[in-house]
Amino acid sequence: MPDKMETIAHMPTRAGFSWGILVKSLMIITSPALIALIPAVALDALSLDAFLYSYCTILVITAFILKPFLANISSLTQYVNNLAEDRQLEEPSFKHLNTISDLPAALITLHHSWEKKKKHTASLITEYGTLVDSLPDILIMCDKDQKIVRTNRMAREVFGQNLAGKPLIGIIPNDELLNGIAAVMEERRGRSLEFHTDLPKPCDFRAIIEAFPAASAEGIAAIITLNDVTELRRVSKMRADFVANASHEIRTPLASIKGFIETLLGPARNDPAAQEQFLTIMGEQATRMKNLIDDLLTLSKIEMNEHTTPDGKTDILQVIRKEKEAFSWAAQAKGMTIKLDIPDDFPPVLGEENELRQVMHNLIGNAIKYGNANTEVIITARVTSALPETPHFAKLHRGVCVAVIDNGEGIPRQHLPRLTERFYRVDSARTRTIGGTGLGLAIVKHIVNRHRGVLTIDSVVGEGSTFSIYLQAYDQEE
Ligand code: ADP
Repeated sequence: MPDKMETIAHMPTRAGFSWGILVKSLMIITSPALIALIPAVALDALSLDAFLYSYCTILVITAFILKPFLANISSLTQYVNNLAEDRQLEEPSFKHLNTISDLPAALITLHHSWEKKKKHTASLITEYGTLVDSLPDILIMCDKDQKIVRTNRMAREVFGQNLAGKPLIGIIPNDELLNGIAAVMEERRGRSLEFHTDLPKPCDFRAIIEAFPAASAEGIAAIITLNDVTELRRVSKMRADFVANASHEIRTPLASIKGFIETLLGPARNDPAAQEQFLTIMGEQATRMKNLIDDLLTLSKIEMNEHTTPDGKTDILQVIRKEKEAFSWAAQAKGMTIKLDIPDDFPPVLGEENELRQVMHNLIGNAIKYGNANTEVIITARVTSALPETPHFAKLHRGVCVAVIDNGEGIPRQHLPRLTERFYRVDSARTRTIGGTGLGLAIVKHIVNRHRGVLTIDSVVGEGSTFSIYLQAYDQEE
């Protein structure tokens, strides 16, 4: 077998059948006959004519037998060369070689298995490409000079198209990340780090950097996975702020109660008038703490359910009427009146009655708290097609808008976006004396969010404020 392979290797590479090779082969193959015939001529056992006739006959017959074999070997060589150069070709016929060797059949089998493996590898590459593209994290592969070699779809969405070939420093100019990649390439040991970048927008990322495990055909030296943790950091900061604020809110009335207890046990021990005054204040502080804890519990309950949309039917007109009743005494105490401007046949809304009652309670309560004495609070409700632009409302033709309008001091513009934050107050000292917990509007916002509705706030300083909530009417299909 090795001899045959050698013969093949010496065949002309791309040309077809060669006469030169045929002649050379004939000379070699017929040389034993020549060696046998020449002594016979020398010893006069064979005449020269007979020698020439015999040798020519051997030559012709051998050439006749050998030619198709050599032609097959030529085709085989060409076939192998084409295979090596990965050119598509038809399988040639090796009928003469097949009679003496399994090599052509083995080569054709090898070609088939090769084709199968090529297809398998191509489909694996497509599969891995799709997999990498569908990853939610950003994936960037770079070479030893920190030039981008490859990226996934997410990376291109965040940092723009055509990233390949660009230096990473131009895309993410962050020293922490670039030094981290350099260290990973040097130590050949993965690491993770967090960094902040302002490109393409302010973002916090957690990066996992891995050295590429083997020599890469594309020159990939490191793989960087970036996970956007901006929201996570914001939420954990919010949580920390919330705990600090809630503790502060509870500590203040508690400190005041503790102070009065010490006074009652000490200097005011025998002063009934002071005792009564202090006990009244202590009662107010205890109520403030109770209200705060009630609001905190309400808020946490709503937050827990925020991802499930309510599907109940609520007669919002009835809810508003009841809340108006509940506040009639407080309104009277300030010389205020609550007016309803709602059609009698107002449709029910999609939502949970208790939660919508809480919304109306907080909004009407605020309108009375912050409205000027001897003014009107007006509550309107309309079916409207002028809806805020949200994905939910985009699917609806019309919705319901309930507005609570007061005549109060109004709220300066710069405070409006922050009003629904927990414990945010426009005038902290004043609102605390009025008795607010700073959680009322946060509760409203979370309930409205859960109902996939919208809360809007309009205010004019010196004139008053309008708090509007947009909800879905109950009878409405999405
Ligand atoms: P609070 O319990 O302090 O009233 P809210 O969350 O209900 O808390 O309101 C937050 C802040 O928004 C209030 O402290 C107040 O400064 C302001 N605010 C709310 N409603 C009104 C209103 N109708 N008019 C003026 N300011 C308001």
